[in-house]
Amino acid sequence: MSYVDEVYELVVQKNPAQPEFHQAVKEVLESLRVVIGKNEKVYRRDALLERMVTPERIVMFRVPWVDDKGQVQVNNGFRVQFNSAIGPYKGGLRFHPSVNLGIIKFLGFEQVFKNSLTSLAIGGGKGGADFDPKGKSDREVMAFCQSFMTELQRHIGPDTDVPAGDIGVGAREIGFMYGQYKKIRNAYEGVLTGKGLSYGGSLARTQATGYGLLYLTEELMKCNGIPVKDQIVAVSGAGNVAIYAIEKAQQLGMKPVTCSDSSGWIYDPDGIDLKVLKDVKEVKRARLTEYAKKRKKAEYHEGKGVWGVKCDVALPCATQNELDLADAKKLVKNGCKVVCEGANMPTTMDATAFLQKSGVLFVCGKAANAGGVATSALEMSQNSERLSWTFEEVDGKLKQIMVNIYHNIDDAAKKYGKKGDYVAGANIAGFLKVAEAMQAQGIV
Ligand code: NDP
Repeated sequence: MSYVDEVYELVVQKNPAQPEFHQAVKEVLESLRVVIGKNEKVYRRDALLERMVTPERIVMFRVPWVDDKGQVQVNNGFRVQFNSAIGPYKGGLRFHPSVNLGIIKFLGFEQVFKNSLTSLAIGGGKGGADFDPKGKSDREVMAFCQSFMTELQRHIGPDTDVPAGDIGVGAREIGFMYGQYKKIRNAYEGVLTGKGLSYGGSLARTQATGYGLLYLTEELMKCNGIPVKDQIVAVSGAGNVAIYAIEKAQQLGMKPVTCSDSSGWIYDPDGIDLKVLKDVKEVKRARLTEYAKKRKKAEYHEGKGVWGVKCDVALPCATQNELDLADAKKLVKNGCKVVCEGANMPTTMDATAFLQKSGVLFVCGKAANAGGVATSALEMSQNSERLSWTFEEVDGKLKQIMVNIYHNIDDAAKKYGKKGDYVAGANIAGFLKVAEAMQAQGIV
């Protein structure tokens, strides 16, 4: 049996009931066959892959807090410190009822390669809790965040592990967690990114993942001779990534016509009205039915359906496995030419294979959504030098990073005989840097 197959079997055996983690490992290992094959003897001797698929450290903890009725609630908290070969652990915190250890491990594993692709000195980690901020009062969210940070603060630090936001963790949650960290540790330091501008945050961090997604998409389209202007875009999600993807797409002259949340989705044939969307989601924290009430021609549908809309470009920006084979078939039938992942692993493996086979340009999340973590690393740099850069400066660096990522993954794919396979390109380019650093640092 090949080394890759052996390691994958081991992962399935040792990590039962973690299908998302298996899926993330399989996708990476499959595309590494061509690289591993060339170095199999050394990698096998050094158990390089076994070390790569095993987190350096996992912390799991109880998060008790008191709700507005005086009732004590208990949630599960996690931090997976996956790999620190190229820098301190870095990766978001997700608060969502679906969070479990397997989800956090899949996200942490992806993060290792994504962070490597940014060319910045950041290792990979991820964390979160099965807490749902939806429908909670600000006081309840604060109580939860403080309890969560009371434990997490023992394990993180500006040179050790620097968490950020993810699903369910935005500016409000980061603020409450930062306040608690500072109180307990008596230290004003850059231990979280995505902070507010008044206390160490970076301009353009809020926009970074969505903007970065579009910078990469634009470069991909330009290099493949596809016009950008006037292209119809289908976007899923209505959170941080989706909103700023829509904003930058509009700035580039594209026409985003959809968005979604976990209850339903919007089709707005005149193009999404960003002002209304921001008001509904960022200010009122309401459902998308409110958007439809304010836009005469917009249609609201329950459930999922964004990928059935005719589009040139599809940008899944909600959550994992939200675009399956049936969706991929609809996209291809409707003439979609480009799919770039804003979310982490939103496309199932069979859907990815189908899109690639059908000639759709497909870029996976670890490359396409790396703008968020890259800008988080820029926030760390600003905190270290106690300076704040202008929006234009940060945005300019972000754009350059995304353009570089596109060319790196394109080059890696070509070099290993997989021209146009940007999934392979991303996994190979991300892997090689981490592998080299791990080999250089010995068996640790
Ligand atoms: P938000 O919490 O801001 O928004 C998430 C959006 O996706 C919401 O509209 C939410 O709807 C929807 N959603 C979440 N879970 C589900 C589900 N199970 N089914 C259907 N819809 C769902 O998160 P972000 O925008 O920050 O993150 C979106 C994706 O992007 C995630 O995969 C995240 O890991 C990834 N990502 C985020 C980065 C960042 O900087 N924020 C960086 C890189 C990747 P509802 O509100 O109804 O739950």
